[in-house]
Amino acid sequence: MSDAALIDPFSRPISYLRVSVTDRCDFRCTYCMAEQMTFLPKADLLTLEELDRLCSAFVRMGVQKLRVTGGEPLVRKGIVTFFEAMSRHLSSGALKELTLTTNGSQLARFAPELAALGIRRVNVSLDTLDPARFAAITRWGRLPQVLDGIAAAQAAGLRVKINAVALKGFNEDELFPLTDWCAREGHDLTWIEVMPMGDIEPSRLEQYWNLRDLRRSYEGRFTLTDLAERSGGPARYVRIEETGQKVGFITPLTHNFCESCNRVRLTCTGELYLCLGQEDRADLRAPLRASPDDGLLDAAIRAAIARKPKGHDFDYSRTAITGQVTRHMSHTGG
Ligand code: SAM
Ligand code: SF4
Repeated sequence: MSDAALIDPFSRPISYLRVSVTDRCDFRCTYCMAEQMTFLPKADLLTLEELDRLCSAFVRMGVQKLRVTGGEPLVRKGIVTFFEAMSRHLSSGALKELTLTTNGSQLARFAPELAALGIRRVNVSLDTLDPARFAAITRWGRLPQVLDGIAAAQAAGLRVKINAVALKGFNEDELFPLTDWCAREGHDLTWIEVMPMGDIEPSRLEQYWNLRDLRRSYEGRFTLTDLAERSGGPARYVRIEETGQKVGFITPLTHNFCESCNRVRLTCTGELYLCLGQEDRADLRAPLRASPDDGLLDAAIRAAIARKPKGHDFDYSRTAITGQVTRHMSHTGG
């Protein structure tokens, strides 16, 4: 067993693990899933104990931030047990942050327990404040349930960041309403460019709302100050001077911030994806199950990190999308 830090071939320390704990979800967002999804057989999923062992190996090798995602992480049966297990790494100081990305549907139920386990912040995906639009984009979701979840998270002391996917012809006219609502409620807000994941209609080109255009719309009304804050990912932040609020832009397509990438992604079946935009992955389930000792697992993790690619190849041009990956975001975890 070796505890040396994970450093990739481009000298980037790997300090951030995103783990998808399920591919299932109680919503069917049109840009993320088909309405009729075939989910993985339950036997293929890592058990919660296996997820614990895997994530703990990463923490031992220097991962300081763990984000739990999916699918919808809070629909995984027994998920609080997993958060409980991970919270021991918060207590020991090895993990600096334990957090999750959720659609918010189950937050009303789980927020108090999550807060008690040391979770301080939660990202909630919310693309619209219009109930009819919300039902249309999520197919199975209902807005009031999510708003109740967000309120419960706040009441439990969790800081909420809203993640909104920027969708042309869908929420363009909600740029200011959503921003104003976040300012009033005290939530940070991050806009995400729609990414070419999975084979889902309608075509990505029709949905693509360039965040440069979105920023220009903000600039027509507000004064924006660029912030130096970096998370090692593709997000860049500005402060809106008039309201004081922080707004993020996740632009893996118009910009490429791969040079500072500090993250890898683990699927619920134990595949380690080295880059969100590349197909290359390593199977960690086999070495995990082959031996109760972590020797094989550690070697497989190190071998995978040693081939982390320099960056992704996503590119939207006006007529075609290149660099598209065929898996859905719910598989790798967004
Ligand atoms: N179910 C949880 C949720 O919705 O927050 C966690 C998983 S979801 C896959 C994580 C994030 O990915 C969400 O913010 C979602 O909006 C985003 N997402 C899904 N498909 C996307 C796509 N094709 N392009 C950009 N973002 C996407
Ligand atoms: Fe579910 Fe999240 Fe995908 Fe929507 S974006 S379908 S909530 S996993």
